[in-house]
This record gives sequence, structure tokens and C-alpha cells, in this order.
Amino acid sequence: MLNKKITPQSGIKKIIFIGAELNPLVKVGGLADVMGALPKALLKLDIEPLLILPFYGAINKQLYPSKLVKANLKFPHTKVIFSVYQTLLPKTKIKILLIKNKFFDTQEVYLPASPNRGELKNDAERFAVFAKCAVEAIKVLNLKPDLVHCHDWHTALVPTILDEYSLADKNFANIPTLLTIHNLASQGLSSLELVYQVALNKKLTPALMEDYYDDDKLDQLKIGILSADMINTVSPTYAQEILTKAYGAGLEKYLQRRKKNLKGILNGIDVDFFNPHTDKLIYKKYNINNYQAAKLFNKQALQKELKLAEKNVPIFAIISRLVSQKGLDILSPLWEKFLSYDLQIVILGTGDKKYEAELAILNKKYPKKFRAILKFDATLAQKIYAGADFFLMPSHFEPCGLGQMIAMRYGTLPLVRETGGLKDSVRHKKTGLVFTKYDSKDLEQTWQQALKIFADKKVLAKMIKAAMSQDFSWDKSALEYVKIYKKLIK
Ligand code: ADP
Repeated sequence: MLNKKITPQSGIKKIIFIGAELNPLVKVGGLADVMGALPKALLKLDIEPLLILPFYGAINKQLYPSKLVKANLKFPHTKVIFSVYQTLLPKTKIKILLIKNKFFDTQEVYLPASPNRGELKNDAERFAVFAKCAVEAIKVLNLKPDLVHCHDWHTALVPTILDEYSLADKNFANIPTLLTIHNLASQGLSSLELVYQVALNKKLTPALMEDYYDDDKLDQLKIGILSADMINTVSPTYAQEILTKAYGAGLEKYLQRRKKNLKGILNGIDVDFFNPHTDKLIYKKYNINNYQAAKLFNKQALQKELKLAEKNVPIFAIISRLVSQKGLDILSPLWEKFLSYDLQIVILGTGDKKYEAELAILNKKYPKKFRAILKFDATLAQKIYAGADFFLMPSHFEPCGLGQMIAMRYGTLPLVRETGGLKDSVRHKKTGLVFTKYDSKDLEQTWQQALKIFADKKVLAKMIKAAMSQDFSWDKSALEYVKIYKKLIK
């Protein structure tokens, strides 16, 4: 039965998560990790999470989703027919509802901007339809959540849509909402026509009205910021940073207005999945007591696989989207200089074509010490976390960042810039290296420090042990989320 009866006395709260990505079903970035791991931690805390996700064409059919219901939504020009399927989050009893309709029958999660996409052409429209379908699914399945937890701009219209439903259905009255911002840079912009296309009730929220008079654009994240009961970002530092012009991505004015209802909660990582002691994907498993020999083994095997020179030089790794946000622009002028040292660089990622082209040239020029693999490869990622010595993440801004935490868990010291979640999770010269100013000079100096640390085996061992013994589990963060839920659920 989908609707397990929950008595008020039981204290169990039913929280519906709505988002665009979910690990391990479909992942582009950190959003997927949070959607996959936080519900598992909440389950231990008297919370019953239920997840709603688009049924992308790329989702593995071996999850055997079963069809629950067919429904439709009437818009001024069209009728959107959709089905709701149900499956379980692998190895859990957590239910996932998959919204299936023609707009999501794609291999990609996000579509490249293109003028010829037929009826609904861009992601702003696709996800606005998804938000509407998700709320309609809550209605037709009579789910009665205690709270709806939305994630990023893709679901930022949900609070407004819930309000709209509450006008006609008392089950929707006062459902509290929390919007988690994983990345402020993507906002879901479209023309105001969308309000009409997907029949949003523009009278309902001041956010929508303001958009009308603002600048002729619909900004879904802005609407979410102004209409969710509470907002949080994924690290305390980033929650402060986004109140400023430098980090607010144009929304600082609205965030300042919501300051009292804005919190920062550092993400955890899935410590069961990211565990060098049990990780079947790496060449040799290890723990804090035997990491030395095993990490060396992992390094040699990685070098062999990537056809790098097989010797014990420091490996600096990047596993990331290859975009300026992640520091690719300040790394660019330094590659050749770094490669003049006795070290190796391993990069796994996809992203801006200009960076991919630049790295492809270095691949050819330095085959024995530089290897950029320009694809998404979750298995290779684990092997790199295990086999590298340093993990580069000199981000311009970083809402939380998962890479640095995964790296520390695998005894790979992060070299990061002091921003957002990087500032909140890495301690300079204790668990990694941290530099402040976003420029190549500061980065280079910190890189030199890393080389010195690598040469000093005693300091290196102390730092690796400190990094590996940190608790990045979701349990701590989940407690923080429960505090917010409790505050919102009266
Ligand atoms: P983002 O801003 O992309 O969400 P995060 O550090 O928060 O950055 O999360 C990125 C996640 O995606 C990490 O788990 C990282 O290991 C993974 N990742 C990024 N690029 C790749 C890739 N090319 N192959 C495999 N995993 C990747």
C-alpha cells in the first residue's frame, strides 16, 4: 500500500522530496547525491520520506517500476497526460514516484538549449510541467504529506502550485514547504509566457506578481525563494555568501528579504557507498590502519590503467564538471608550469568545450604524466579517489561540494579555495590545504605547499589520518533538517 496509515501519535512525519536527480537512478551532480542519501538518514529519525522524480528515458528499467495511476493536467493550449510509476530506492524501503510523460522520455536529464524542441522547448518549461505533475500526483494518490521538501529551481514552483491547489482542496491547506538551494547559478529562466502555458495562478504569490513588473522574465528559483516557507543552502558559509552581490547571482535582494528563514546545512556524503574499506570498485580496499600500502597499490594500478608512468610521484586529481566555477579558469594558465614538476595530473570530467580542448592537447603533449578522461565514469571516479594523493577543487564558489569530502574519506588531501562548503569542511594544513584569494598566484603557492607535504612523510601521514577520521555521514546533517521540519510542521 502506498499510503501507510500514519497516526498523529506515532510522531512519524511524511516528507515528500521532489527533485530532478536521484542517485543511483539518475545523476548529473551533487543534487543527486543529496536526494539519494538524505532520505536514508531521515528514515532513522522517525521520518517517512517519499521521493518524486521525472521518469527519464535513461532510468534503468531493471528497477521494475510499477504503474500506479494515469492522470492529466489541462493547460490553455494542451492537455498533459502523465503516469505515475512506483519503485524503491535500491536497498531501501523508500518509495520513489516516477512521473512519466513525453517531455522526460529523454536520455539526458537536462537538455541543451535549442530552438526546435517542439511543443515544450526548454528545461524551464519541462520542469514547470514536472512541478505541476508532481503536485497533481500528490492529489490523485491522496498522499497528504506533512511537509514538501523541494530541491533547486526545477521544483521551485511547487510551493506556489501547492498554494493554488489549497484554494480548491482543503488537504492542501498549510502544507509547509522547504526549498533547498544546491546551486544558485541555475535559476530556470524563461519568458513570462510560461505562466500562461502551464497555467500558473499569478495572483497567488507576490513573487510572481513582482516578476510581471520586474524585467519581463520568469525566474523559477526566485519564485521559490519568495514563496517557500523556509529556504536552506547546503553549507553555512554559502548561506552567508549568497546574501552578497558577489555570490547572490542577482537574487541577493530576495534572499536578504528571507534572511530570517534562510539556513545553511552542510551536506553529508553516503558513507556506506563512499567507503574505501568496502568499495568494490577500487583496486584494493583499505582503512585508516592499512591505507599506506593499499593507497600505493591503488596508485600503481591507476597509473597502469591510465598508461601513466608507474612511479610514486604525487598524483593531483580533479573529478568535476569542467567549468569556470570549479576553478578551471585559474588552473588554465598553470598546467604547463605544474607539469614541469615531478608529478602527475589526472582529470575526470566533462564540461565547457574550451577546457575539454585544452586538456585534450595536454593529453597528447604529456602522455606519461597528464591524463584527462573527458567523460562521466562513476567507477573510474572511485579508482581516482583511492589512487590519488591530492584532490584539486579551487572553486570560485561552492555551495557545498562533495568531491572534497569523498576525497578526505579516501585519504586524498583536498586542495581547495576558502569558499562555501569547502571552507566549512577542509581545515588548512590539518585535513587539506586551503587558499583564500581566487587567483592563479595563490593557487600556485598552495600547490607548492602540497609538494612539500608530500615529501614530508610524517606530516603527510598525520594529515591523511586526520582527513580519514572525520565524520561526514548524513546523520549529523539529517538532524539539522529534522529541526527545520519540526519548526515548520505545527
Ligand atoms: P557539483 O557542483 O557538480 O554538484 P559536487 O562536488 O557537489 O559538484 O558533486 C559532484 C559529484 O559528481 C561528486 O560526487 C563527483 O565525484 C561526481 N562527478 C563529477 N564529475 C564526474 C565524472 N566525470 N565522472 C564521475 N563522477 C563525477
